[in-house]
Amino acid sequence: MTTSCRVCAADIAKPSYEASPPALTSMMAFVDIPTLAFVCRACGHAQCADLPDIETFYDTTYRISLESDDHDQIFAVDADGKPIFRTDHQAAVGLRLLDLPQGASVLDYGAAKADTLRKMGTARPDIRPHVFDVSNDYRPAWKSFVAEEDQASYTVPDAWQGRFQAIISHFVIEHVAAPVAFLKNLRDLLAPGGRLLLSMPDVAANPGDMTVADHLNHFSIPSLKKAFALSGFTVETIDSDAFPGAFFAVAMRSEEPVATEVDSAEVARAVEMAEDICAFWKVATARLDRSAAKFSGRRAAVYGSGFYGSWIHSRIAKDVDLSVFLDQNPKLHGSSHFGRPVIAPASLAGDVDLLFVGLNPLKARAIIGSLPALNRPGLDIVWIDE
Ligand SMILES: [Zn+2]
Repeated sequence: MTTSCRVCAADIAKPSYEASPPALTSMMAFVDIPTLAFVCRACGHAQCADLPDIETFYDTTYRISLESDDHDQIFAVDADGKPIFRTDHQAAVGLRLLDLPQGASVLDYGAAKADTLRKMGTARPDIRPHVFDVSNDYRPAWKSFVAEEDQASYTVPDAWQGRFQAIISHFVIEHVAAPVAFLKNLRDLLAPGGRLLLSMPDVAANPGDMTVADHLNHFSIPSLKKAFALSGFTVETIDSDAFPGAFFAVAMRSEEPVATEVDSAEVARAVEMAEDICAFWKVATARLDRSAAKFSGRRAAVYGSGFYGSWIHSRIAKDVDLSVFLDQNPKLHGSSHFGRPVIAPASLAGDVDLLFVGLNPLKARAIIGSLPALNRPGLDIVWIDE
C-alpha cells in the first residue's frame, strides 16, 4: 500500500507499522480500521492512515473535556506528586512565548472549551478572545467569556482574514489530514507580523503517539519546519522541553516566500527515530499477547487509564481477570474505564498479583518505582518494553 506524505507530498512505498483492526483513538474509542503508520524519507514526517468519515468523527464523537467543568487532562506530576493540568500550562506558555501587544485579538483555533484562552484572558484582560471549532458542542462553554460575534463553528467568517495578532492552536494539527493547507489558512487569518503558537505530540518523547488512530500526523522537527516553510511562516521557536511529550512551536507570518530546503542529516535522524518506534510497537504487541496468554486467569490491574492502558486492556482483557485501572489523576478516581473502576495506586487490593504498566515506556520505571504500594512482594509487573 502506497501513500503520499501529508507534508511534502513525496511517495511513501509501504507502512512501517501495521496492526489488524480495531485501531484505538486518542479518546480511547475503537474504530474498525487497521493501524497503519508510514514514515516519509524525504522530510522525516510520520503519519497514520486516513480515518473514515473524519468530519462526523470530530463533530459528534470527539468531545474533549465536556464531561464536567473541571475535567482537564493531566500532563505531568510535580515534585510533590501534585498533578499539573494541561490548560494551565498552555496558558502560561502562550503568555510567555507570544509577546502579545496591548488589546491583541487572539484566536483559539480548534478551541474545544477554550480553557487555555480563558485562562490567558484572566491574566491579560486587555486581549480580545475569539474561538473556532468544527462543532457546536462547545458554545455553552464559550458564552461566559467570548462575545457572540467572536465565536465561529464549522466555517471561519471572511471578516476574520488578516485580523489576528496571535493564533493559538493546541493539539489540533496532529488530527488534520492536510496540515500544510491548514497552516496556510491560519497564516491568512493572521495580521502581518502576527504569530502562531502550535502544540502537538512529540512522538520521539512519547512513542505511544505513533499508533493513535486519529493522530494522522506525527511531526518531527524537520517535518514541522518544512510544513511551516511551505505555508508561509518563519519559525521562531520549536521547543520540546516546555511540555513533556509535546512540541510547542511559534512561527510568524512571513510576507516573503520562505526557503523550503530540508537539512538532510536532520531528516535522516528523524527517519531513523520513527522507524525505531514502529519496530518497537511490532515487538511490544507480540510480547503483550504472549504475556496475556502466560498469565491467563490471574487477577490483574492496569496502571494508567490513558492511551497505553487502554491499548493494554484491548489485548489482555479476554485472558486475565482485570479488576481495576490505577491512575494518579484524582479527578478520575471513582469513575470507570471499560467497565472497571479507576482508583488511586495506593488503594490497590492485596489480592491483585499482576500489574500491567500502561505508561510511556520512557518514564514508566521511574513512576512505578516511586510508588511503594506497587513495589510489594507477590505483585508481578509486566512492562510493555521488556
Ligand atoms: Zn515528507
